Amino acid sequence: MCIEKDSSKKRLRIAIQKSGRLTDDTEALFKNCGIKITESRDHLLAHAENLPIDILRVRDDDIPGLVMDHVVDLGIVGENVLEETTMQRAVDGLPTGYRTLMQLNYGDCRLAVAIPNEQQWHGLQDLSGLKIATTYPFLLKRKLSEQGIAFKPVLLTGSVEVAPRAGLADAICDLVCTGATLHANGLREVETIFTSKAVLICRDEPLYPEKQSIVDLLLPRIKGVMAARESKYIMMNAPKSKLAEIRAILPGAENPSIIELEGESDRVALHVVSREKLFWETMEQLKALGASSILVVPIEKMLD
Ligand code: ATP
Ligand code: ZN
Repeated sequence: MCIEKDSSKKRLRIAIQKSGRLTDDTEALFKNCGIKITESRDHLLAHAENLPIDILRVRDDDIPGLVMDHVVDLGIVGENVLEETTMQRAVDGLPTGYRTLMQLNYGDCRLAVAIPNEQQWHGLQDLSGLKIATTYPFLLKRKLSEQGIAFKPVLLTGSVEVAPRAGLADAICDLVCTGATLHANGLREVETIFTSKAVLICRDEPLYPEKQSIVDLLLPRIKGVMAARESKYIMMNAPKSKLAEIRAILPGAENPSIIELEGESDRVALHVVSREKLFWETMEQLKALGASSILVVPIEKMLD
């Protein structure tokens, strides 16, 4: 048995975006999960030092295919790219099998239709017969054909937002996060076609036991990192007489720890993990109820 083949049975291979909007969050997630990678981003293949994991850095568009063709075991990619590629591959007669292991809490965006500002809008029917520039013809077609609308796709893999001004299309269907790019190009968003987040996907056949055990180790860690990112540790000193009112306004704080304060009979310390944001307004209300030394502290890791 050659070494290469042996290591491909034992080391979990994960494809991630080499450089782009998912890269920083993905690398931060791996780091917080305790995966140590020293090689720089220029390396196509990076080996984790402390776990049997290899990271393959590629264009995001290639990730679904690498998983579906069983070249890698796992991949992290936007649902937009995953869905579009799956539909494209089905038409091309290529394998489309995969399993979604987990939706991740980053890479949020939406695929939306936008039209020139001056154009009127009554609903999706307005797109009937129009030329629509997009990188996502399958997602757009799926949505519009549900409503019986036919359109002419204009395929562009970049600079979709300049297509109407350049006279290439009447409308566009593109990824939007804040809408600033649309605005800068004299376009307005009129309809959401698809909402997307990053997802962790796995090849559709069973993994070798060694690899499966790394996945089993990794998934709770990823969950723990995501739960921690959404949570805060809140501490304050509070009057005993107001505890019920304070607990009522604290978001997502079911089971606080109440701790006696040395030398103070009418005040206690209250500690709680909150899964929701604590807004300034709530902190001011807490203060008005007599709470003091209110601290909101980020949590790095969590294991329930
Ligand atoms: P690549 O060189 O890897 O092909 P790309 O230019 O196709 O990169 P990016 O712009 O880096 O891709 O976006 C990668 C993914 O990040 C998108 O497919 C989408 O899932 C997600 N994403 C998150 N926010 C945005 C946004 N504001 N605009 C576009 N994509 C976003
Ligand atoms: Zn891409």
